[in-house]
Amino acid sequence: MRLVNCCINAVCIGYLLAIFQVLKGKCMVPILMYHQIDQPPARGAYLRGATVHPRRFANQMLLLKRLGYQGLSLRDALPYIRGEQQGKVFVLTFDDGYKNVFDYARPILNTLGFTATNFVVSGLIGGMNEWMFAKGSLPAQLMNQDEILQWYEQGHEIGSHTVDHCYLSELSAQEQLQQVSQSKADLEDLLGDTVSSFCYPYGDLDERAIFAVRQAGYRCAVATHKGLALDEDNLYALPRISIIRSNHIVRFYQKVATTLEHRRRTVFW
Ligand SMILES: [Zn+2]
Repeated sequence: MRLVNCCINAVCIGYLLAIFQVLKGKCMVPILMYHQIDQPPARGAYLRGATVHPRRFANQMLLLKRLGYQGLSLRDALPYIRGEQQGKVFVLTFDDGYKNVFDYARPILNTLGFTATNFVVSGLIGGMNEWMFAKGSLPAQLMNQDEILQWYEQGHEIGSHTVDHCYLSELSAQEQLQQVSQSKADLEDLLGDTVSSFCYPYGDLDERAIFAVRQAGYRCAVATHKGLALDEDNLYALPRISIIRSNHIVRFYQKVATTLEHRRRTVFW
């Protein structure tokens, strides 16, 4: 009942916010970026906003389902992003391969028939988010091999997020290629299938990194600059819409189904 009320409120407010122009679904695809789905850490914790409560995530997905949207992995959405296919779709991406996404988001996605992409750090499978420790982040468990395989076998996508979550722009061209190629090869060995999607850690990229990702054989890559994906976008530097802990349902609706975020689009490539 609460969800129904949320839906009604969101739709009503959506109409009132005509200024943001509701999307017609034509070659403007929202690629959502999530990190962790869990009980958020205590107030003041570093990157607290990157953890969305499972109940809030469920309500967000249910809202889009009831509004007629289909949630897709990057792999499944590529024809829509390229403009070869049209439909009411959005893309679901999760960065870093957190176990809490496997535990809490996956059952919701499976129930609704949505697919999603999880970008895994290939050198830290079954480990912790070590790259965040120095910044003061709380430790969080990453998916192990078995969980990655289950995620994949249930129709979701595994993408690469480098070997050790490095700042690619700080590496030599050879080191960049090693990071993107090695992680691809290791994940393909585990899955027994092609890994075609890549995500730049920290959204850190330069022309050389884009070249390395292309050279390694990926079909597309996502960054962290804002905006909806357009069919003329560089497939190796796609923009995303960041969904954070504090986004209530109306704000979520604005971000996904209107041009609000797109008006703040930052294009680098
Ligand atoms: Zn990351």
